Amino acid sequence: MGEKEQGVLKIAVIYPELLGTYGDGGNGLVLVERARLRGYEAELTSVAIDEPLPDAQIYLLGGGEDGPQRRATEALHTDRSIAHRLNDGALLFAVCAGLQIVGISFAVEGGSRHSGLGLVPLETVRGEKRRVGEILVDVDGRDLVGFENHAGHTYPHDAEPLGLVKRGYGNDGVVDGVYQGGVIGTYAHGPVLAMNPWLADELLGHAIGHLLEEIDTPADRLYEARRKAVRHSPRTP
Ligand code: GLN
Repeated sequence: MGEKEQGVLKIAVIYPELLGTYGDGGNGLVLVERARLRGYEAELTSVAIDEPLPDAQIYLLGGGEDGPQRRATEALHTDRSIAHRLNDGALLFAVCAGLQIVGISFAVEGGSRHSGLGLVPLETVRGEKRRVGEILVDVDGRDLVGFENHAGHTYPHDAEPLGLVKRGYGNDGVVDGVYQGGVIGTYAHGPVLAMNPWLADELLGHAIGHLLEEIDTPADRLYEARRKAVRHSPRTP
């Protein structure tokens, strides 16, 4: 990662009024605050459904119910700019419904299938049951904690997953999320970047172009406590 030309670091939360039911917009706040704590100028924008996507280095998609998820996908198809922005080096961090949207297709209640943005080769069908509870994912030896609440079962095909599921379900009971071509996704809510500050720092490091110095905030300490608690909790069937 080479240092990138640094102006204001722009972070855009896409359609929080549709994809914000689980507080995932908080991921944007975490990124901005952790960048500022390192002395970077950072700006957070919320994009409304009728607005074009602004220029940003990191875009965020959150989770949501089936109906809003479909509407958000249609709006992103109409906007058409996200793939170009990723080609130009932007990152997209997507949670749950957001993760399903960035794939090739997803099915919602009643079975109807919808075209996703096709940014990564994921396909989501309706699973046998809704997956609700704690999730623990091993991401290259680091623990990612959060909670999941979704009916989707996501086939990764050739997509590079974010990590291996240790507790909970994730995409398919084996892997969770995606980490490929500027798209980082997970089924974990929390907001997941508040619960896992190291992942926020990894995203910031990519956007800025180098690893960031460690900081010690209450969130970093809470993460340590949480991951130990989840590791020692009983496995869910
Ligand atoms: N509507 C999707 C599902 O149930 C996503 C839910 C969510 O974002 N939590 O699978």
